[in-house]
Amino acid sequence: MTSRRTRIYEGKAKILYEGPEPGTVIVHFKDDATAFDAQKKAVIEGKGVLNQRISEYIFSRLNEVGIPTHFMRSLNLREQLVREVEIIPLEVIVRNVAAGSLAKRLGLEEGTPLPRSIIEFCYKNDALHDPMVSEEHITAFGWAAPQEIDDIMHMSIRINDFLTGLFLGIGIKLIDFKIEFGRLYENDMMRIVLADEISPDSCRLWDTKTNDKMDKDRFRRDMGGLVEAYQEVAKRLGIISENEKPERAKPKLVKSDT
Ligand code: UDP
Repeated sequence: MTSRRTRIYEGKAKILYEGPEPGTVIVHFKDDATAFDAQKKAVIEGKGVLNQRISEYIFSRLNEVGIPTHFMRSLNLREQLVREVEIIPLEVIVRNVAAGSLAKRLGLEEGTPLPRSIIEFCYKNDALHDPMVSEEHITAFGWAAPQEIDDIMHMSIRINDFLTGLFLGIGIKLIDFKIEFGRLYENDMMRIVLADEISPDSCRLWDTKTNDKMDKDRFRRDMGGLVEAYQEVAKRLGIISENEKPERAKPKLVKSDT
């Protein structure tokens, strides 16, 4: 079945196929996990389905609150139909709490709250290991125009505010996350929309009470229990029920002790 479709691109965790209509693309979420510039690799059964469903849920909620995204609809547990966009070659990282490369770079202890949310840009280039760049580099090399950077920063802050609240309501701290944007061409118009995915592969998510990691750091740091952690995120979001049956429910509110 899948072999008859035209493959546009295969990345580390996803495959893109031509969509049924012009201007659409099918995204297939693989079970492959990679870290450290793909030096570390594994196949984790069930990861693709969980990421597809979590990303579908988040992109749908973002669409509802007026943040434009490429997402149209899920086609099955592993695949979604999205609008074709021209990907801006930047990884936009939003951070609320020090972790990962920021903690290392600035000598901060992981878990230290930041004075305010910070946005960083990395140039999407595997061969160069996605180097961090400034707005100066982005405009000088023409990766994005100044107005586009403004739109991206504004949308990133709104996404962070929305997601921070969404996760806090289900007992999860949003430490940081990576997002990507694309240019959507409609008639003579072009606008910037959120693209790619938002899932525990691209976020750091810590349990509010225990600080347990519920994200890809479980793979990066050989902690095990990745699928169980992603399942727990999906359960708390109300995407899957306790007995694993697909269900569309509301997020469960977890009362905080404070
Ligand atoms: N991230 C990602 N893809 C990347 C690099 C980072 O999804 O290629 C996410 C990562 O999961 C984390 C955030 O972006 O939620 C910040 O990552 P960081 O810069 O700390 O890099 P890392 O420690 O993952 O190398």
